[in-house]
Amino acid sequence: MGDATLWFGRRLPVPGPATQPGKPALVAHHQQWRCQRCQQVVPPGDELPEHVPYCRQCLNLGRLTAHTKLYTITEPNRFSRVVDGGLTWQGHLSDHQQRAAQELLQRVRHQESQLLWAVTGAGKTEIVYPALAWALAQGWRVAWASPRVDVCLELAPRLARDFAAIPQAVLYGGQPVPYAYRQLTICTTHQLLRFEHAFDLVIVDEVDAFPLAMNPLLLGAIDRAQKPQGCRLLLTATPDRQLQRLVAHHQLAVTYLPLRYHGYLLPPLTVQLAWRWREQLTRGKLPAALMRRVRRYHHQQQCFLLFVPHVADLAPVVQVLRRLGLTDGTTVHAQDPDRQAKVQRMRDGDLTYLVTTTILERGVTFPNVMVLILGGDDPVFSTAALVQIAGRVGRHRDHPRGDVVSYCQSQTLTVRRAQRMIVQLNRRGRQLGGRP
Ligand SMILES: [Zn+2]
Repeated sequence: MGDATLWFGRRLPVPGPATQPGKPALVAHHQQWRCQRCQQVVPPGDELPEHVPYCRQCLNLGRLTAHTKLYTITEPNRFSRVVDGGLTWQGHLSDHQQRAAQELLQRVRHQESQLLWAVTGAGKTEIVYPALAWALAQGWRVAWASPRVDVCLELAPRLARDFAAIPQAVLYGGQPVPYAYRQLTICTTHQLLRFEHAFDLVIVDEVDAFPLAMNPLLLGAIDRAQKPQGCRLLLTATPDRQLQRLVAHHQLAVTYLPLRYHGYLLPPLTVQLAWRWREQLTRGKLPAALMRRVRRYHHQQQCFLLFVPHVADLAPVVQVLRRLGLTDGTTVHAQDPDRQAKVQRMRDGDLTYLVTTTILERGVTFPNVMVLILGGDDPVFSTAALVQIAGRVGRHRDHPRGDVVSYCQSQTLTVRRAQRMIVQLNRRGRQLGGRP
């Protein structure tokens, strides 16, 4: 079966005839078939022409049918030990970061699963480094997984630079490089479906992000990819209610980092009522308070992001702004082929504003930006999304403050929860000496 390392800690279809070793990929279960890769039930009718059932739910990882076998070799941790876990990072942690990093390290040493709840802009990646270096020095196999491919793509070059002595693999759908057996794997959570009891430590970055939250297929993938005696480290700025409940009931250990790396508190989320803004928009108008504010920003040459609920809102909103004389801005959304270029032009100062959907809610950093949300009470903005959006403001130590204003038709529970989360994090931050 070729290179044995390809099977270490993985669960892959066996090529060739059914006499090959391995276990059936689809197993009968209460008169239904269950897929052994993604653990989902195959609905009746998902069949090939010869009445051979197949799994549609993990089809994008390659088709598994009732004739397929899956094969695995128990993870042997065949890695050479590296001094200091291969950590070549030369940076410096602040006192608050150092305290959090030590907490994470102690729990990893005891193979205890845990959550790092660090506000946006806390520098959570570097806080994980001491624990990661320790794990790698033990010869552990580690996965750093995220539901979002852009998080993986941003992370991979940093880890390649900061753990230069550690062989690394990057896995995501449609990637150009073939799989290789490496001590550190950076991947989308979806790619974990191909692993079985491979990792001594699974780090899950942005654990609350779509599509992982509440997704049994992907949550199951993390369980299976982790060794039974292994542990996991969840990273988030905005844990969902389920995670918060686990923490509140002491079922999950938590480290808080309520201060940003520069020591300032999060900017509060202000709500302004904007009655029937959508009807106004159809008449070519924006809420008066919003128009006053953007005119002021324009006058001060202040950059800003204006979030809107839907792609269809982008064009009418930017038209109103341009009529007001704000011509140096544009729109951006998930399917926009020029998305990266527009974000870069905003960073370079060629643009002073972007009208955007939630696509820019996380993962992007502008040094000095204000944030406005039109229709913040729309269901498209979850509590986590609102807190993440607010977190775009004040990320640079030279511009640690700024405005976050949501224009809402009504004060919804979701908006109030977002305000409350920021207030509670800032209360913790103040106790650590955070500056408002
Ligand atoms: Zn499946």
